[in-house]
Formats: sequence, C-alpha cells, structure tokens
Amino acid sequence: MAEFDLIARIRARAARREDVLLGIGDDAALLQPPAGQALAVSCDVLNEGVHFLASDAPFDIGWKALAVNLSDLAAMGATPAWAVLGLSLPDADAGWLDGFVDGFLTLAGQHDVALVGGDTTRGSRAIAVTVHGFVPAEAALRRDAARPGDDVWVTGTPGEAAAGLAIALGDTAADAIPQPHRQALLARLRRPTPRIAVGRALRGLAHAAIDVSDGLLADLGHVLAASGVGAELRLEALPVPPALATIDAETRWRWQACGGDDYELCFSAPVARRDAVAAALSSCATEGRRIGTIVASPGLRALAPDGRQWHPPRAGYQHFAQEPSPPWPD
Ligand code: ADP
Ligand code: MG
Repeated sequence: MAEFDLIARIRARAARREDVLLGIGDDAALLQPPAGQALAVSCDVLNEGVHFLASDAPFDIGWKALAVNLSDLAAMGATPAWAVLGLSLPDADAGWLDGFVDGFLTLAGQHDVALVGGDTTRGSRAIAVTVHGFVPAEAALRRDAARPGDDVWVTGTPGEAAAGLAIALGDTAADAIPQPHRQALLARLRRPTPRIAVGRALRGLAHAAIDVSDGLLADLGHVLAASGVGAELRLEALPVPPALATIDAETRWRWQACGGDDYELCFSAPVARRDAVAAALSSCATEGRRIGTIVASPGLRALAPDGRQWHPPRAGYQHFAQEPSPPWPD
C-alpha cells in the first residue's frame, strides 16, 4: 500500500457533517463555523514510547489520540465539530491503520466529530491531532478566571489512570489492587472519556477549568498561575474508588494528585453556585467532588486529613523537565 491507498482507506470511513462543505480529498477542507461563536482549536502530539507503546492495541491508540484532544475542548466548554489527523507511520500496515482508525472514528462518532483532513507520511510512529469546536467566546472556561473563595471541583475518580499505568508497568505498588479491578483501571488509562457534556454544562457556572492530563496538582497549578491566585486542596475529599481502597494513603495520593492521563475536569466555581454545579454534573450522569478552595495567596497546598501539608514527590509529568518544579510553597 502507498500513501494514497492509506488515505483512501481513512477517507472511505470518515463521517460527514453539514458544516463540512468540502472534506478529505482536496488541498484544504472548507468548513462553515456557526455565526456568533468562537472557534476553539487545540492540538496534541502523541509519540511512540512516550504517550503510547509499540505493543498497545492500535484501537486504543486511535481512541486516545482523539480523546486527549476532545478533553481540551471539554475544558474550554466547547462543542467539538472537526478533527485533522497527522500520521507518521514506519510502514503501510493496513491492519494497524484499520485498528487505529476504528478507535479514532468510534470516539469521533460518539461526539459527532467529522475527520476533515490530515497528512500521512513515513517516519517513526507519531500522531498529531487538531480538533475544532465551538463556544460562545464569553462563555468559554478559561484558565485565568479562578477567584478567591471559589470551590475547587474535580469530576470522576482521578488516580485510576495512574493505577492503570502502574499495573501496565508491573510496578509493585499496584500489587495490592485486587484482580477484579485491574482490567477496568487499564481501560481508564487506554480509553479515557473526554468530559464534553460536563464542559458544556459548566458554561456560565464555572469560573476557570482545565482538564487533568499531567496530574491534578500540576494542572490545577496552571489555573492558579494563570489566575494569580492559590488553592488549598483536601486530599481526603478525593473520591476513593473500590479499586483503590486497598492502597496505602501515600501511594494513593500520589496517583490521585500527581498521576496523569485521567482527562477529568478540574474547575473552580462560586460557592453560591454549588447546587447548580451539582445539578449540572448529575444532568451529565458524572460524579464530581468539591476538593478544595481558591485562596488569594499564591501557591497550592495539599492538606492531609490531619491538616498537615502533604509534599508529593512530584506534581505531574513534564516533557524536558530536568528536575521537579513543585508549584506549592514550602
Ligand atoms: P497535499 O499534498 O495537498 O498535502 P495530501 O496528498 O497530503 O495532500 O492529502 C490528500 C487529502 O487527504 C487531503 O485532503 C488531506 O487533508 C487528506 N489526508 C491526508 N492524510 C490524511 C489523514 N491521515 N487523515 C485524514 N485525511 C488525510
Ligand atoms: Mg499532505
């Protein structure tokens, strides 16, 4: 198979949308954004050996490549619409491509996302996805909008993806996880759920939001820095799913607070809107917890149940990092 056979294989399966005036096949796609809305655009690159392993199922790689991008749109409160897919592949392996496209388009179908173009080249395996969505500009959930006194919320059960990674890597810390839970944790790592509906439901309710890709403390730290505020986070407020109930607190907090790849939403919202936030979450059938408070003084303090400050080994994953750079004060 040559480049154009690969592209034809992808094109044959890409879904259509009315606002795609011209999709895959020309020099550029022609797209019609809705009047009065801002275009939200985000791109993520996934490299073999860093974001996925050569041994990972192609379906899961395709799913995750789109999921991490949709998660960014969710964190803006945007409704996804279009995706562009850049593929660098070592060989024209139709089986691998079909599995990859299966995973990518299965998730795309769940969110009515049309694949409208891309590029296909030979090289070491890498994937670059750009997604486009719509959001009224004034309702977008930005990182710089947290205010002192806001509640800090998180959706779902952060830490499960890190536990899944520990299982995948054969880390002895994961030995205590009972067998019946192990597959579900691996699935959380490999097929994350972008919180699109939640992001939309939080428009006009949440002040600031971010998706948890690198770790809860690290990502919340970005919100705090952008907003010029600080936060106190209560570790005991983090949900403990049954799968993590047998894990010692220190390891569990490390996974929950510093583990990446959860793709949950962390957001701040006014105390006066607590009930409305809870109602928005339940309308999306998504769990959410209040885990802390935004404060005026900069820095992020994670508090153990005894009230003492907990110092994690590192806040989250950083490419090119020489050494950990914690966002919390001493
Ligand atoms: P060009 O030479 O103008 O870059 P290409 O031959 O690379 O065009 O691509 C032909 C068409 O196929 C374009 O519309 C492009 O967007 C689309 N395309 C190429 N690779 C992919 C891909 N991996 N996924 C989706 N569409 C693709
Ligand atoms: Mg090209």
